[in-house]
Amino acid sequence: MTTALTSRKASTKVVRILARYQLKASGHVVYAVRPSKGGDPYYTTIVNGKASGCTCPAMKPCYHMLQLEERETGRIVNQVEAMLNASDEVDEDEAYEAWKHDHGYDEPMTREDYAAFFDPNGWGL
Ligand SMILES: [Zn+2]
Repeated sequence: MTTALTSRKASTKVVRILARYQLKASGHVVYAVRPSKGGDPYYTTIVNGKASGCTCPAMKPCYHMLQLEERETGRIVNQVEAMLNASDEVDEDEAYEAWKHDHGYDEPMTREDYAAFFDPNGWGL
């Protein structure tokens, strides 16, 4: 009973995030977190949405890894949702631009082309 209480207490500890770094090339995320007893920050790494390590002395996976992985998963979900919402708006335009490009409609017409198209009989519109 004491054990259950203690572990429940441990799992409700809230990670205090000092900073979040994202390495552009790899997409890896590093969190600097404040130790509950103060002192130098610990660093928790997230690779492809999975916590891969933490510099704190606790048994792994520690609560930093668990909480930050959860946080990161939420972030990714938000990003994907934002991308999906955004693409609803821009996709149509982009598809149209691509279609125009494929069909040569983005080239400016020459005066001769224009005349041939709109005034094929040379009536001088
Ligand atoms: Zn940790």
